[in-house]
Amino acid sequence: MSKVLVLNASYEPLNITSWRRAVVLIIKGKAETVEHNGLVIYTNFPLPTVIRLRHYVRIPYKEIPLTRRNLLYRDNHTCQYCGYAGDGLTLDHIVPRSRGGKEVWENMVSACVRCNVKKGNRTPKEARMPLRITPRKPHSSLYFEIARHTRGDAHKEWRKYVIGLTG
Ligand SMILES: [Zn+2]
Repeated sequence: MSKVLVLNASYEPLNITSWRRAVVLIIKGKAETVEHNGLVIYTNFPLPTVIRLRHYVRIPYKEIPLTRRNLLYRDNHTCQYCGYAGDGLTLDHIVPRSRGGKEVWENMVSACVRCNVKKGNRTPKEARMPLRITPRKPHSSLYFEIARHTRGDAHKEWRKYVIGLTG
């Protein structure tokens, strides 16, 4: 309940803030409430869960590093071939390194040991192991932060403002 998704004037997610800060932005007229969860903090003032800035803010693009941790996070700690979720996941090069596959977001997925071994030095097509989701480069670290805050049933109202959010 304490976190609020801030949208740019263009409705793109901008950042996550505390409800207190969000309320200040609304009172100052810098933002408007887009979604609230029905809880009322003051008379006629529902607690916002999504707000939108009245003026567009330019933000520099923040590159998210390709690390094991971030990759597992993107893939929801799930084998992208069989759906296994748990410990001992490995990282698989979709097009194997020995065949020119690069170490980039689009060519890396989380895989369980079994699938990784089974696939071996082949492409998913050759191995007849289709990927469950086409791997993409995450937009920004905000994407991860939002994903973390929308696990399970939390902050359901945020989802429609975030494209490509999984899990
Ligand atoms: Zn697997």
